[in-house]
Amino acid sequence: MKETYSRTKSVWQRMNKTEQKAVMTYGEAYKNFLDVARTERLATEEIIRQAEAKGFRPVYSKKTLKAGDKVYWNQKGKSVILAVIGKEPVHNGIKIVGSHIDSPRLDLKANPIHEQGGAVYARTHYYGGVKKYQWACIPLALIGLIFTKDGKKVDIQLGMKEDDPIFYISDLLPHMAQDQMKKSLAEGITGEQLQALVGLHAKDGETPCEAIMKLLKDTYGIEEEDFATAELELVPAMKSRDVGFDRSMIASYGQDDRACSFANLHAILNAKPGVKTQAALLTDKEEIGSYGNTGMESSYFVKFVMKLLALQKTPGLLEFYETMENSEMLSADVNACYDPMFPEVSEKDNASLMGFGVNLTKYGGSRGKAGSNDANAEFLQKVRHIFNAAGVCWQIGELGKVDQGGGGTIAFMMANWGAEVVDCGASMISMHAPYDLISKADVYETYLAYKAFFESK
Ligand SMILES: [Zn+2]
Repeated sequence: MKETYSRTKSVWQRMNKTEQKAVMTYGEAYKNFLDVARTERLATEEIIRQAEAKGFRPVYSKKTLKAGDKVYWNQKGKSVILAVIGKEPVHNGIKIVGSHIDSPRLDLKANPIHEQGGAVYARTHYYGGVKKYQWACIPLALIGLIFTKDGKKVDIQLGMKEDDPIFYISDLLPHMAQDQMKKSLAEGITGEQLQALVGLHAKDGETPCEAIMKLLKDTYGIEEEDFATAELELVPAMKSRDVGFDRSMIASYGQDDRACSFANLHAILNAKPGVKTQAALLTDKEEIGSYGNTGMESSYFVKFVMKLLALQKTPGLLEFYETMENSEMLSADVNACYDPMFPEVSEKDNASLMGFGVNLTKYGGSRGKAGSNDANAEFLQKVRHIFNAAGVCWQIGELGKVDQGGGGTIAFMMANWGAEVVDCGASMISMHAPYDLISKADVYETYLAYKAFFESK
């Protein structure tokens, strides 16, 4: 068994040849997920496809629940819960791994299409925390759905295939950017400047806007008014790629939080059925505060647990709270690891290191842990014991040095209901960038960590 905790020896240095091969194989499956599950809707589809292939069935198709049963709930096509029923009753508590499947992106506004200087643009409103200047001059894909006036649903997915066109946000050339270059990074490109070029050609006698709208009508049957009720996302179109001579890292869009979401999915699909019921929660809207009826602040998780309890003939609100009090959760979100190019934002001895395993974060928050879950030592030591016993390489890491960083996850919501919760996920570099970076060994250890947690007592 490999050494599970070290701040001097990387995971790779601690692995044997077989483990190293498993890391690289896992990386291939993970990259495929990153490219297929590019939005929360596509992630939901892919998760359910993989789960159904392994025998998961909709929870409402069940009349009873027995040990080993595999059920799922699809929350409006944007969030999923997968559960494997344990030997003990659900009421005795659930092992939950909770990750999110939404990522920062640019959403089209309700009235996006307009012309400026003879070119056609789509206006956007950014979703989640982005550094706006990073979204210019990169290939963007348009993914989402739009309904025609008579209610026909049209799925749009343009930009991910090799021969698809992409969309593009411009930036100034250096020769004419003297004034722009004096601005702060926050102001160099503004939110209203995040407009994507979507067309240019028009026939004599028509405007470029009219030409684009005609093209959309002919191709998809959609009209300008249809945009008002659509959900269309511009996401980076770059496929995930190996990084480095040794292929030790992966660059991709959306690894916050698909690194943990894929590990979560892979873990529940491959874990041995447990004594306790296992639940993989893959939720939407984390990046904008978990609001909305597909986010963690809504009631769908409560309802799912109460449905499990009802199917085992222990229905009721008290039983729900008792179940949650008996439950344990890994809040599966990414953290930021120490970046040697920006050492000033971390305190190195308490930051996670790239390639040193899955990261445990006792508390997040900012300005004196405000807004943080702050996990209990009793639960932390239990998790440590599970990881050590299963040979999972783990480390600890805060999000930035004191009064520098801070951030939230879905941890506190589960803790509100009484569950033991700790933040636990892979650490990454360039989080929330259009193309972010992670270590292959870290995402693999994250999968092993969730699997060990699901299988633990
Ligand atoms: Zn996240």
